[in-house]
Amino acid sequence: MLKIKNKKVIKKGNKDPLKFNLVKDEKGSIFTGLYLVMIISVILVAILILNLSMGYTDINKNELNAETFNYILNDYKTNIPDLSYKVLENITNKVVKSGMPLTNSKETIKEEIGKIMMKKNKEYYKNSGIQIENNVVYVGDGKDPFHINIKTIINAFKGNRSYNDQITSEISIENLKDPLPAIKCSKYPSFSYNETNYNYGDSLSKFLESKNQNGSQYYINGSSPSIIKRCIYEPYTQHKEGISMENCLNNGYYHESRDGSCYFHRLEGVEQCLDYGMETFILPNPKLNQSGLKATSSPDHVIFGYSYPGESLLINSYSGTKTLIFLDNAHRKKYGFA
Ligand SMILES: [Zn+2]
Ligand SMILES: [Zn+2]
Repeated sequence: MLKIKNKKVIKKGNKDPLKFNLVKDEKGSIFTGLYLVMIISVILVAILILNLSMGYTDINKNELNAETFNYILNDYKTNIPDLSYKVLENITNKVVKSGMPLTNSKETIKEEIGKIMMKKNKEYYKNSGIQIENNVVYVGDGKDPFHINIKTIINAFKGNRSYNDQITSEISIENLKDPLPAIKCSKYPSFSYNETNYNYGDSLSKFLESKNQNGSQYYINGSSPSIIKRCIYEPYTQHKEGISMENCLNNGYYHESRDGSCYFHRLEGVEQCLDYGMETFILPNPKLNQSGLKATSSPDHVIFGYSYPGESLLINSYSGTKTLIFLDNAHRKKYGFA
C-alpha cells in the first residue's frame, strides 16, 4: 500500500525528471524479477536433478550393501569358533604355566572371548563400516565331555540395515592342555612337562604320601599326558584286545567318565565333579613289571581326587617290554579286563 501511494505521488509531477527513470526502473525490476525467477528455477531444477541422482546412487548402494552386509556377517560368524578355541588355549596354557587354578572358569572364558571379539568388531568396523556388538551369553557343557558349548548374541548395523542372531558353537577341547596335573603338582620342584607329557619326578609320590596312600613310591618318575586326546577304542571294553591298551597309554588318550572331572573343573583344580567328565591314566614308574603290586588305582580322578587302591595290571606290549598300571575292579570292568 505504501509503495503504490508513493508511486502515485511521484507520477503526479509529469515533468519530474525522475519519472522516466522510475518507469524504466519499474520495467527493469520486472526484468530483474523474471531473471530471478529463471535463476531460481534453474537452481531448483539443478537441486532436483542432483537429489534424484543422489537418491539413485543411494538406492544402488543399499542394494549392494544388502549382499555385502550378509556376506560380511557370515564371514564374521566363522571367526567365533576359531577365536573361542584360541581363548581356551591361552587360558589353559596360563593355568598350566602358573599352576594357579581359576575361581570361575566359565566366567573367565566368557570375559576373554568377549575381549577378543571386541577387537574383531573394531577390525570389521574399520574395514566395512558395519558396527557389530557381540555378547557371550552362555558357556557350558557340550554334546560330550570333549566339547564345550558357547552361545553368542550378535547385533550388527550399518545405515538402514541391521542384523540380529544367536550363534551356538560346539568347540572341541581336544589338543588343549589338561591343566589339572599342573595345578596339583607344580608346587613340587621335580614336576615338569613338555608338549606331550607331564613328568612327575617324585612329585606324585609325595602328593600321594600326603594323602596317606599305600604304594605311593610306585609313582616315582610316573607320567601322564599333557594334551587332551579322545580315545579311539570305543566301546572301551576293546582295550583288552591286542595292543589297544598299550596304544591308548602311549598316545595318552582320554575317556568319558562319570567320576572324572570336566574341562571347566579341571581349570579350577577340581579333580571330581558332578558333570559328565573325562579320565586318563597316570603311568607309574616305567621300571615296574610285576603283577600283584598294590597302589592307588591309576585313573587320574582316583589319583587326584577320592583315592582307592588297585592292583598292578601288566599290559600286552607289541615290543615285548612290560608296561603296567594299577587298576581297581570297576575300572577293569570298564576297559574289558574283568
Ligand atoms: Zn583308551
Ligand atoms: Zn565339572
